[in-house]
Amino acid sequence: MTEAQAFVTLATTDAYCMGCIVVGKSLRRHGTSKKLVVMVSPNVSRVGRLALDDVFDEVVVVDVLDSRDKAHLTWLGRPELGVTFTKLHCWTLTHFSKCVFLDADTLVLCNVDELFEYEELSAAPDPGWPDCFNSGVFVFRPSLNTHTQILEHAAQHGSFDGGDQGVLNTFFSDWAVKDIRKHLPFVYNLTASAVYTHLPAFQQYGHHAKIVHFLGGIKPWHHSYNPQAASESSFRDSSKNFAAQFMHLWWAEYYSQNQQQVKKDDKKEDYS
Ligand code: UDP
Ligand code: MN
Repeated sequence: MTEAQAFVTLATTDAYCMGCIVVGKSLRRHGTSKKLVVMVSPNVSRVGRLALDDVFDEVVVVDVLDSRDKAHLTWLGRPELGVTFTKLHCWTLTHFSKCVFLDADTLVLCNVDELFEYEELSAAPDPGWPDCFNSGVFVFRPSLNTHTQILEHAAQHGSFDGGDQGVLNTFFSDWAVKDIRKHLPFVYNLTASAVYTHLPAFQQYGHHAKIVHFLGGIKPWHHSYNPQAASESSFRDSSKNFAAQFMHLWWAEYYSQNQQQVKKDDKKEDYS
């Protein structure tokens, strides 16, 4: 059995590719020893894919429509589950024994390789409904068997929230009560909005933040950003505005030098 382990993320649009680049770069910045994998749908542009190629070890194209099994065919009648099903494809990465999925709208603040010590399905509570886990960060074991079971479950029961989180919570339905060891600490999936709504808690615990999740309709890439202006004034003025600081960190990571590329260039020089 393979022992390889990977962080996995997903983009079905070029905009989400921007997020994936930040996920990958922030993992590398903090010295992960794991493989980095990004799943993309076929509509992601060539340019988008090439940019991901520079950061990730593997860019895997996943296409729900290509599959022929029964669950997929049932899905064809439910196009609204498309993006959701694409995320569930992470279970097909069976050349890895264990993986950690990170939403494209997350930002890693320190080395989080210890996440691989957790078992399937480990995740942090959703801030809106803490008896459900948030599916932006979760530990899983790729398995075609599990993949089929989840798709069949989704095709049969749908998703109570229209997304992957609804499907996964009804599939791993005993998460809330069965095994506290599968509850990741909230700092592994700190939703940026919780900074506002729970400011005292954030002030107490926020410095332990390990992964920030820009959950919700507005993503960092929706904000315009001028690196020069940011280094000079606007973000310094908002020193108390933690959410703005996370946004700033996100953009700084987006524009940061690609460590992976530096390594590749060094290698090229070695050979020349
Ligand atoms: N996603 C995607 N394309 C989309 C919507 C979602 O690739 O059009 C992927 C992406 O990895 C994203 C994840 O699915 O991070 C979950 O969606 P999102 O983060 O937007 O949901 P939220 O966390 O805000 O509920
Ligand atoms: Mn998200």
